[in-house]
This record gives sequence, structure tokens and C-alpha cells, in this order.
Amino acid sequence: MARNKKKIVILGGGFAGVECARQLESEFGDDSEVELVMVSEDNFLLFTPMLPQVASGMIETRHIVLPIRTICQKTKFYEGRIKNIDPYGKLVTLWGTGDKRSISIHYDFLVVALGSETNFFGMADVEKNAYTMKTLNDAVVLRNRVIDMLEQAENETNPILRKSFLNFVVAGGGFAGIETAGELMDLLLDARKHYPTIHKEDLKVVVIEALPMILPGFNEKLAEFAKEKMKEKGIEIKLKTAITSFDGNEVTTKTLDQNPKDPIDESMTNAIRTKTLIWTAGITPVNTIKRSMFKTDKGKVMINDFLEVPGFPGVFAIGDCALFLNPETKRPFPPTAQIAEAQAKTAAKNLKATIKNLEKESFEYHSKGQMAIIGKRSGIATFLGMNISGFWAWLIWRNIYLSKIPTLDKRVRVFLDWTIDLFFDRDISRLKMMKREEKKEYKVLDEVDDVW
Ligand SMILES: Cc1cc2nc3c(=O)[nH]c(=O)nc-3n(C[C@H](O)[C@H](O)[C@H](O)COP(=O)(O)OP(=O)(O)OC[C@H]3O[C@@H](n4cnc5c(N)ncnc54)[C@H](O)[C@@H]3O)c2cc1C
Repeated sequence: MARNKKKIVILGGGFAGVECARQLESEFGDDSEVELVMVSEDNFLLFTPMLPQVASGMIETRHIVLPIRTICQKTKFYEGRIKNIDPYGKLVTLWGTGDKRSISIHYDFLVVALGSETNFFGMADVEKNAYTMKTLNDAVVLRNRVIDMLEQAENETNPILRKSFLNFVVAGGGFAGIETAGELMDLLLDARKHYPTIHKEDLKVVVIEALPMILPGFNEKLAEFAKEKMKEKGIEIKLKTAITSFDGNEVTTKTLDQNPKDPIDESMTNAIRTKTLIWTAGITPVNTIKRSMFKTDKGKVMINDFLEVPGFPGVFAIGDCALFLNPETKRPFPPTAQIAEAQAKTAAKNLKATIKNLEKESFEYHSKGQMAIIGKRSGIATFLGMNISGFWAWLIWRNIYLSKIPTLDKRVRVFLDWTIDLFFDRDISRLKMMKREEKKEYKVLDEVDDVW
């Protein structure tokens, strides 16, 4: 290796990390003086906007993951979990496993794009008993859980127990919660045909949201449209309500006053009997970031206008793990794939500027619009300055997200899955998958952070 070869190490193979690697590949891919390296826990990019459709069985599991080695071919890839980032020694250390030695990777420039994980706001019982919707494993496990509940309910003679099998509660009225609830209802309605004793009115999906509206960040009329559409589908929406516990049998909630943080008297607590709570009510940066030497706020890495970490020139932080305030609202940008990719482009340009002694540019974000689907053939979209709802919004969502899948083969596979779903019933085979492991430390954060 040439002595003065510059090594750029990207941590995280999500939307931010992959986009940054692809931009850097087009700039430095053939430059023998620059080496590109990526470290990530999974060897694929997970296309999260379609995750709820994997949970509902509409899309096959592997069709929404893209192997990093196929989409970032000029970047050296290490599959591993990052243990420590030492910005003084410019060293990243990976955890070892029974089969794998722990290694350290030196860098000249670093891009931290480690994303986020589910935030349970310190509620240990919720973390233990709830299902989540963040990883591919979550989606597969949830689908199997739903089928299992139908199987249990079909032959259950105790009416109270039967009802709790068929009640599903979704915590969070953001992108993930609303899209999951819509897909869940579609799966239940499709699968029900195979369970003769289960009727449509036996099925209940409830969305619980602490704020006075769902889909915060969307145009109010569109969010209202989405709410009404969900009600039409039979989904109940409880606003200004917070979940306080879930023991695996009962979700307890409390009604909130205007300010979601204000508790009110105990007489306003409620309980819903359910065996399945799906928690999408918040995210928080991963522990590697929280315990790093970088200055953080609410767990996110603080960055300057160039997306660089103050005090550590050549270290950039982007995506869900970075804190960048919207200059207009003075509030953090919502954690979305769109913003993660926009930041990745700026970080790549600023890395190039740093290496070539050019001027760096400030991050500016111009939204290309926002979209959400509400199950089959309905959605909302703000697109090219227009607010669109219903079938056309759903169609736009499908076209845009399909075009955003990085490889042709996965695009074709997803398209075929959608087409097959038009003609055939959902597969109701239940695969016995394990629930996620519990392995986190707790930290109570005081803010609901599910604004996509
Ligand atoms: C169900 C769902 C639906 C969504 N829908 C939309 C949508 O429609 N539109 C939209 O714009 N956004 C959507 N989002 C949000 C979007 O997925 C995130 O904002 C986006 O993924 C953030 O990108 P990122 O690169 O910062 O983080 P991530 O995509 O989370 O990537 C982080 C990467 O870092 C890796 N990593 C983390 N910790 C470690 C470690 N210690 N060691 C090694 N690797 C590690 C992870 O494995 C992952 O590969 C949705 C999210 C979910 C969960």
C-alpha cells in the first residue's frame, strides 16, 4: 500500500452509508491514492419503506435487501459490529465473536452513519414483550406472530382470550406505525378467509399516538385523509394517548392533555387486552454513538454546517445518528431515508473538498416530497408541490419507491410480488421464528421522535 494512500472508512451500511460510498466510488473508485472501506453489522442495505409489506407477506423477505458487495463494488466491506470509535487515535474497533477475531481499522477520514434503533423510553416491560418494526427480522417475526394469533383464535373457546388474540395494538402514528397498521389490517382481512370462525368484526387494529395528529410533518389535510381512510378500513386511532405498560396480555394507556409530556389524573388510564403490541413509537441512536467520544445531544452526534463533527476535522456524521437543525424551524430534521441520502451526498462532496483542498459546502435540504401508503390502493403524497390523496398517491408511492431500489433484479422481484398479490391469496404458513434478543441499556429520552 502506498504510504500516502488516504483511507476513508464509512461506518454503517444503511441509506446514508451506502449513498456516501456510492458517491465516493464515482469520485475515487479508480483512484489508487484513495481507499474506501465500509463496516456494517449486516452485509445488506435494508429498504425500510417496504418493510411493512414484508410483515404483511406481500413482498418476499429477501426482495427488499441489497447486498452491499453488489451495490458498492469498489468499497472494501467488513461485516462486523463496531465496538469503539477512537477519534484521537483514528481507529475503529470491531467486536470479535466466537468465530471471528476482533479487529481495529485505521482511518484518515471517517463517515459515521450508524442509524438508530427502537426507543422504548425506558419501559422495560414494553421492550420485553412488544414486537418492533425496524429490522428485517422484526418484519418476519411479526408476520408469523399475526398468523399464529389467527391459528390460536380459530379454535379458542374462551371469548376473552380469543378477543385478545385478535386485538392488535400499534404504538406510534408516524410513517412506520401507520404503514404497519394498514398492512396488518390487509393481512388479517386476506388471511381471515382461511379461518371459518373468525369474522371481519372480530379483528381489531388500534393505533395509539401521543400527539393530537397522525403522520406529523405531513400536510394537515392529508394526515386527516389518512386518518379517515384508516377508520374506513376498520382501524381505530387513539390520539393524545400514551402507552404506559405492556405485560404481554394488556396494554395500559393514559390520556394526555395538549402537551404529550403532561400526565393527567389516574382515572384517565385505560387498558386494552391484547397479546400483540407493535412498538414503532420512537427511535434513538445506537449505543456505539451514545458512548462515543463525540459530543451528543439526545444521543445524536452534533455536527456543523458541513456535517463535520466539531473538534475532529475529517470526521463526518450523517443520517439518523446525526443532529442537524433545520435552519427554518430550529428543530432537528426528521429521521428519513431522503434526508440521510441528501446528507450522504454533501458529506461525500466535503470529503472530496478536504482531500483536494477545495472549499467545503454547507448542507442544504430541499424536500422532494413526502409519501405514505395506507394499505391496499390508498395513500397520501406531497409531490411536485401538489397534495395528492387516494389511489393516485398510492400509485405514485409505488412508482417512486420501486425506482429507488438500487438494483434491477430486486426491482423486478418486488414488482412481481405486487403483481402476484393481485391474483392470489396471501400465504398463511407460519414459520417458527425467534423473537428479537433483549440486549440493550436503557436511557429515558424525553421526546417522541417518530417524525419521518
Ligand atoms: C418501517 C419503516 C419505514 C420507513 N419508511 C420510510 C419512508 O417511507 N421514507 C423515508 O424517507 N424513511 C423511512 N424510514 C426511515 C428510514 O429507514 C431511516 O431514516 C433511514 O434508514 C436512516 O438511514 P441511516 O443510514 O441513517 O440509518 P440506517 O438505515 O438505520 O443504517 C444504519 C446502519 O448501521 C448499521 N449499524 C448500526 N450500529 C452498528 C454497529 N454498532 N456496528 C456495525 N453496524 C452498525 C446498521 O446495521 C445499518 O446498516 C422508515 C423506517 C422504518 C423502520
